[in-house]
Amino acid sequence: MGMRLIGPVHLVGGQDYNMVYLDWPANDCNTYLVNTGDPLILFDCGCGESLSGILENIREMGWDPRDITHVFLTHAHMPHAGAAEDLRRNDVEVMAGPATAEAVRTGGLATVSYHYHRRFIPVEEVTEMADGEEVELGACVVKALHLPGHSADSVGYEVICDGRRMLFCGDAVRAPGLEQFRDRPDYDADAYLETLKRLLDDPPDVLYPGHGPFCLSKTAHWIGEELKKLLRTRA
Ligand SMILES: [Zn+2]
Repeated sequence: MGMRLIGPVHLVGGQDYNMVYLDWPANDCNTYLVNTGDPLILFDCGCGESLSGILENIREMGWDPRDITHVFLTHAHMPHAGAAEDLRRNDVEVMAGPATAEAVRTGGLATVSYHYHRRFIPVEEVTEMADGEEVELGACVVKALHLPGHSADSVGYEVICDGRRMLFCGDAVRAPGLEQFRDRPDYDADAYLETLKRLLDDPPDVLYPGHGPFCLSKTAHWIGEELKKLLRTRA
């Protein structure tokens, strides 16, 4: 099963929605598929063990997973990036910020696979995107925005399609009722503050977080709430 969201965006995986249920505590992230009008592209890909279920969801929605050309990783944490090598072996280009690329190539501490008592399968080849770098795919432009804080390597991808600016923000912004993930080795409150201020300066039209619900309008409210969560515990 999959779910159409706004325009070209579809939810095809996500443990919070039981899209693909895992009986181990991976908290598999939301996996989004964007139909650019030509290639299909993914944002994050789950922990790995859920990939066959995600591909089944894509088939059920009428697409051929062989038409997926790129997966964009928001960061190296296993629930987001664990399936990347499996996708790469099936001719999907893995896109990531430089720090994520380094982490998934080695499969080290930054993938937090120790949380799940699993081994992260290192990704042999990753295409790095610098802060502000854009790539054009079909009718969409995908721009990488480095968003450190939740982890040092966190990146968001701004997708402009049909005049709408959508941000796939990984774990940088979550629904107001959800707690921030902080028990990660490279969590950095100061960097996080700067990231949230930067997002608040120019909020996107739509926010697609890595876990839980989506913010389909008035995203400044969610970003502001995330900022308040951070400031409450820094005081
Ligand atoms: Zn994370």
